Amino acid sequence: MGFLIFLIGLCFGSFANVCIYRLPKGKSLIYPGSFCPNCGKNIKWYDNIPLLSYILLKGKCRYCRKKISFRYFTVELLTGLFFFSIYKKFGFTAFNLVYDTFFLSLIIVSFIDIDTFLIPDVIVIPGIFLGLLFSFLFPEIHNMGRFESFIYSFTGTIMGGGALFLLAIIGKILFKKEAMGGGDIKLLGMIGSFLGWKPIFLTLFFGSLLGTLISLILILLKKRKIDDYVPFGPYLSLGAIISIFFKENYFLGFFIN
Ligand SMILES: [Zn+2]
Repeated sequence: MGFLIFLIGLCFGSFANVCIYRLPKGKSLIYPGSFCPNCGKNIKWYDNIPLLSYILLKGKCRYCRKKISFRYFTVELLTGLFFFSIYKKFGFTAFNLVYDTFFLSLIIVSFIDIDTFLIPDVIVIPGIFLGLLFSFLFPEIHNMGRFESFIYSFTGTIMGGGALFLLAIIGKILFKKEAMGGGDIKLLGMIGSFLGWKPIFLTLFFGSLLGTLISLILILLKKRKIDDYVPFGPYLSLGAIISIFFKENYFLGFFIN
């Protein structure tokens, strides 16, 4: 069963790759089928098998031999591993549907943010409503009654969005420039709607910590300049994923355990 869940994850990862590539270009997700961005040749089904095709083709297009971005492989693998981990941690329950949907939204948003510095509304706005709906339909994900679960999720949306909105205003006053985009605000709102208000703090804590650490490393490696714009979406997403696995002992409990 675990392996089957992993395979299903790989396929959804493959779909996430399509979204990451096509959504910012405003292209249809369904039609046409996959094609090589370099030579335009259609990719046959046997060259479109997650992970496997990438390895067999040694990361190159079968026709023009142009390198295929390693990111395709990474996104598929990460999605497969996440689906598997949620199954291992929570069994075959509503958690799979809720957290796997959540993860897919985050990975799509993160890579689009890295590419374009924009967080697509078309993902985060429906995401907020989906988080609220899931919290109402499956209150067991928050281990609460139905009504409390919905309020917990609703408060999470307001607090998540509100916290970053405040930070954005403070940043604007202190640094006199745009530090946080509206996309980040909506993204943390979505994270709050899926996870509830408590994990918001852990998400922000890990997100800022990782964001600072990774930026410092990139600056030291001279891969980024000190005043380059840093997309915050991927770090918020990472923070949210970490929170899922630590949220039973979040905050003080997390440091004590
Ligand atoms: Zn090609």
